[in-house]
Amino acid sequence: MALDADIKAQLNQYLQLLENDIVIKVSAGTDEVSKEMLALIDELASMTPKIKVEKAELKRTPSFSVNRVGEDTGIVFAGVPLGHEFTSLVLALLQVSGRPPKVDQKIIDQIKSIKEEYHFETYVSLTCHNCPDVVQALNIMSVLNPNITHTMIDGAVYKEEVESKNILAVPTVYLNGEPFASGRMQIEEILDKLGQGAAVEELSNKEPFDVLVIGGGPAGASAAIYAARKGIRTGIVAERFGGQILDTLTIENFISVKETEGPKLAKALEEHVKEYPVDIMNLQRAKHLEKKDGMIEVELENGAVLKSKTVIVATGARWRNINVPGEQEFKNKGVAYCPHCDGPLFAGKDVAVIGGGNSGVEAAIDLAGIVNHVTLLEFNDHLKADEILQERLNKLPNVTVITNAATKEITGTDKVNGLTYVDRATGEEKHIELAGVFVQIGLVPNTEWLRGTLELNQIGEIIVDKKGATSIPGVFAAGDCTDSPYNQIIISMGSGAIAALSAFDYLIRN
Ligand SMILES: Cc1cc2nc3c(=O)[nH]c(=O)nc-3n(C[C@H](O)[C@H](O)[C@H](O)COP(=O)(O)OP(=O)(O)OC[C@H]3O[C@@H](n4cnc5c(N)ncnc54)[C@H](O)[C@@H]3O)c2cc1C
Repeated sequence: MALDADIKAQLNQYLQLLENDIVIKVSAGTDEVSKEMLALIDELASMTPKIKVEKAELKRTPSFSVNRVGEDTGIVFAGVPLGHEFTSLVLALLQVSGRPPKVDQKIIDQIKSIKEEYHFETYVSLTCHNCPDVVQALNIMSVLNPNITHTMIDGAVYKEEVESKNILAVPTVYLNGEPFASGRMQIEEILDKLGQGAAVEELSNKEPFDVLVIGGGPAGASAAIYAARKGIRTGIVAERFGGQILDTLTIENFISVKETEGPKLAKALEEHVKEYPVDIMNLQRAKHLEKKDGMIEVELENGAVLKSKTVIVATGARWRNINVPGEQEFKNKGVAYCPHCDGPLFAGKDVAVIGGGNSGVEAAIDLAGIVNHVTLLEFNDHLKADEILQERLNKLPNVTVITNAATKEITGTDKVNGLTYVDRATGEEKHIELAGVFVQIGLVPNTEWLRGTLELNQIGEIIVDKKGATSIPGVFAAGDCTDSPYNQIIISMGSGAIAALSAFDYLIRN
């Protein structure tokens, strides 16, 4: 197997950074994948004298482990880690050789203190862009703690194993032989799931904040930066730092950045926040907010209570799911939720929009200008969108409206290829061939925990004024969780800045 010349040149540079010798133990057979794996390892070994190769009998064949001299680390690759996993291989080689992983010292200490034996196995596909984060996080844990091992398993090579475990999405992680998690996860999330997260007392003992931001998406990050730049004590509590953009692939409308990817923007947000003395409490979910003796108290899911003089709620929203087979598997692989954002990716193709309310009809009109053909599916026997929107829709030559359509399944192989629905009038099952499906059955604001506390509108959005003020003095809100008419990154960031400046103004006046 010959590596592409560019990759080879890059690899050569990285391998010069190896600090100490490493031993690759290989379990190979005579099959094609084994041959490909052996060729890759030979190529690695030919580039540096620091890599030694030994034959071994590992649990799976083909597979290989990456070890220190005289000490197994427990990092195994079952398959050939090319594609998106190539970086995971390079990082594993560097880290096993002694180069420190790029994670906070606090996290390194947490990993090193784990006493339990944890054997992780992660099923991946080499085209999955969410998988490397998980593989790399678990490899770091294996490098740092001898009680932890991790095997990356290429599902395409170990098909029977994947089928017998009924794994339909990657990454899927097993721990000590039992299902542990699936989907993108950061190292902090894994530690939290293992019960190694921040302690309740540590959180409760924190000094009161001047501004406490709840939510770590674009709105929360922007609010935290604006607050911290005023030199006031700022904290940020987030269930998942990054928010919705972590689930977004291509972003082309974040003005001044022609094109980026959601996870890249989320990383940039975090790095920007970390430039300031902001206390980031990631993986913490707020469950109650109350004003007591002039202070606002925020209770977290784990029981800890944080106090602050002002609070900015920026808990965002989530797309309402249709919950049919295929939706989760093909998210970002043809199943989309944001026509403004993802529409251009389907230029010239056939797509469907599910939902005949205002957002569905607006999406269909918007998409009709870009794609080849739009099929709009509505569950009821008529569209619910405003008349004026329906009139515009009906004038479009490349839109078909199907009412009484109950979506049954979104179909595909590695990406969406169609949709099956049941005609509710006749009971007949029908299938349409498509490249994309836009689910437009509404957004749900993450405000259930504020019902009865803050004034919300009919659909649960926090009602705010021009300054981002809510019904409780000192509590501000920003972004998708508010009654703002549009939900976009740039708008959320702007409203986060407004809320922070208003909170500062409130502090100096009170
Ligand atoms: C698939 C997809 C593609 C998109 N593409 C684009 C695009 O190309 N361009 C664009 O401009 N917009 C796009 N959007 C919309 C954009 O992502 C949102 O408008 C933006 O992320 C909203 O930011 P936010 O900070 O208000 O909320 P969110 O991003 O939703 O962040 C909310 C934050 O609050 C946290 N949180 C929620 N509840 C709690 C709680 N109880 N306690 C603590 N923390 C909590 C979450 O974990 C998260 O950190 C897309 C959205 C999706 C889903």
